[in-house]
Amino acid sequence: MASLTIRNARKNYGAVEVLKGVNLEAESGEFIALVGPSGCGKSTLLAMIAGLESVTAGEIWIGDRMVNSVAPKDRDIAMVFQSYALYPTMTVRENMAFGMESRNVPKDQQKETIARVAALLQIEPLLNRKPGQLSGGQRQRVAMGRALVRDPALFLFDEPLSNLDAKLRVDMRTEIKKLHQRVGKTTVYVTHDQIEAMTLASRIAVMHQGELQQFDEPEVIYNRPANVFVAGFMGSPSMNFIDAELSSANGQTAVSFPLSDGNVASLPLANDIGDRAGERRIILGIRPEHLARNDADTPSRPGFATMDVPVEVVEPTGAETMAVLKFGDREVVGRFSPDTAPRTGETMPLVVDMTRACLFDPSTRRLI
Ligand code: ADP
Ligand code: MG
Repeated sequence: MASLTIRNARKNYGAVEVLKGVNLEAESGEFIALVGPSGCGKSTLLAMIAGLESVTAGEIWIGDRMVNSVAPKDRDIAMVFQSYALYPTMTVRENMAFGMESRNVPKDQQKETIARVAALLQIEPLLNRKPGQLSGGQRQRVAMGRALVRDPALFLFDEPLSNLDAKLRVDMRTEIKKLHQRVGKTTVYVTHDQIEAMTLASRIAVMHQGELQQFDEPEVIYNRPANVFVAGFMGSPSMNFIDAELSSANGQTAVSFPLSDGNVASLPLANDIGDRAGERRIILGIRPEHLARNDADTPSRPGFATMDVPVEVVEPTGAETMAVLKFGDREVVGRFSPDTAPRTGETMPLVVDMTRACLFDPSTRRLI
């Protein structure tokens, strides 16, 4: 039995369908990320797992127990929110003890648990402070501490890092990952940040408009996105999409689209797609990192297509340089190492790694 099972979960607010039948499963010890744009239903689904929102239809199982009508406090879960919700007049120690106190956990056991969790989170020096005397990162750590002392079957996080500044967010992300590696509790982690999802999760559930788009390992989500939405949502800068046509010549299938100089680009497909492309029109998806400068040392490899394109904008970021290139009337973003990056105004000789290209059906927008 999976640690968490969600079967065809639906949620309506009046006539508004917020979740349209979601199926998900987390194995014991797994770290699942629920990711998607704001308003897609992530918090609603998490609140239904926690019992803070009712389930319109479907079933939620924690372990081998169907919990639809079980009260939140009896679900054996702990939740960490974006706002830390610490009691401002209590010390860190009292905040952590509060839940145990109300469950009548013996005092010596409380003390032992707080010591263990405080050591784990490295917040021992903070135990006698009040929340007002803590930084944002420290408060978030205490909020996690309060969840950890419960030793629940299931950890739920709802965008716990989104109030923190960028640097601290990255540090805390690593902390959460370390913590999960040490504690190994089943976790459902809601975020709108695809990098957080990619770096933390063993499996990612991508949601859009109340529907699950894909549920799979990060590598699969990134390299074989189920549809145009997932492909565009995961990855930054985004995957480039180019309306194109399939053509065949000399027994080789190629993807072709017009260039601005009046020529037609014809990029041979690396993999035979057989009869999966019923249509001749397709959407070609190429990630920015699968474009490179075609210089004299670039080996000619099967699946690597070449073309010359105008460079419109160059954006160095230090470690890498982004550039906007013109593919016909379409702008395409490439990601280059600074030493091979294009210069503004240059016509750049480009290699496209067609072995990594994704093809989508324009009518269903699904991966071919
Ligand atoms: P997310 O967490 O992915 O940003 P939410 O789960 O908070 O999204 O919200 C999903 C949708 O449900 C949104 O369109 C939101 O406006 C709507 N919604 C959330 N709570 C309520 C409510 N109590 N009443 C009506 N609509 C709600
Ligand atoms: Mg939310």
